[in-house]
Amino acid sequence: MELRTTYTSVPVATLASGAEVRIPIHEVRGQAGDGPTLGLTACLHGDEQVSTEILYRFLLGLDPAALKGRLLVVPVVNPLAFEAVTRHTPLDMQNLNRVMPGGGEGFFTHQLAEALVGHVLNKLDYYVDFHAGGVYPTVDYVYISNAEALSRAFGSPILFRPPGGYGYGGSTASYTVGKGVPTVTVELGGGTVDQTAYVRRGVAGILNIMRTIGMLAGDPVPPPPQTVLRTLLTLRPRAGGWLVPEVTALNARLAKGTVLGRTLSPYSFEELEVLRAPFDPSLTVLVRLQPCRINPGDFGYMIGDLATAEAA
Ligand SMILES: [Zn+2]
Repeated sequence: MELRTTYTSVPVATLASGAEVRIPIHEVRGQAGDGPTLGLTACLHGDEQVSTEILYRFLLGLDPAALKGRLLVVPVVNPLAFEAVTRHTPLDMQNLNRVMPGGGEGFFTHQLAEALVGHVLNKLDYYVDFHAGGVYPTVDYVYISNAEALSRAFGSPILFRPPGGYGYGGSTASYTVGKGVPTVTVELGGGTVDQTAYVRRGVAGILNIMRTIGMLAGDPVPPPPQTVLRTLLTLRPRAGGWLVPEVTALNARLAKGTVLGRTLSPYSFEELEVLRAPFDPSLTVLVRLQPCRINPGDFGYMIGDLATAEAA
């Protein structure tokens, strides 16, 4: 199958090596009529590469003849982080999803943010941003910010309603929410497991959002029963080493104190830290499926508090 998109890329900066950094943009103009512009972005964090595959498979299957409106799709927002498979930009160690709308202190990452805002984010009527767990963790939830119906339409079983309405300041989502653009942030997949099912769900979620906003014909598929978390805690280890998980299931309900995993020294095999479920009951949202390296401050696990959740 062939891509039926118009591909361009916009310049950001030239590196000392002479290599040029550009932001890739696939544009699709619908042939079924006028409609809104939907933006889809992936790999703002370079270690979340399943997000790129979701957009690739989505574009492969898309027929512009059936589309109303326009798509702007950025499969890799941060090419330097993609190359290095790192969350942050290796050049300046900045987090691209905390420095929007860019400018600012003028680090390279701020320049990249500024280009994304000008060439993509400012042109959108709707926005969906894809994240994943990274190299080791696997994750599964969707933020509810300013477009609850669209967040639900993506179809994930767990949603998170963050206190500020959009999660992190300086994120692309905080920028588009600030402009009143209906915005969905997806956290899906990643880690050391087969990503096929996550890719399939990601594509289905985009299509269902597009049906919901009228860019594709047909009735949206009703979402499954959904738990909306109000409290979502990231367990950040104090001890680095080798994390051996004991709980590997996502969307699992656990009693407070359940051992999630144990951090051992990979050298002496001494137990350095035990990570436990913090809430009664707890819900697993980000887990690790295989023994893996872990550092202090990493995303160890993410656990929702079911006692304060909105009923499924
Ligand atoms: Zn991310």
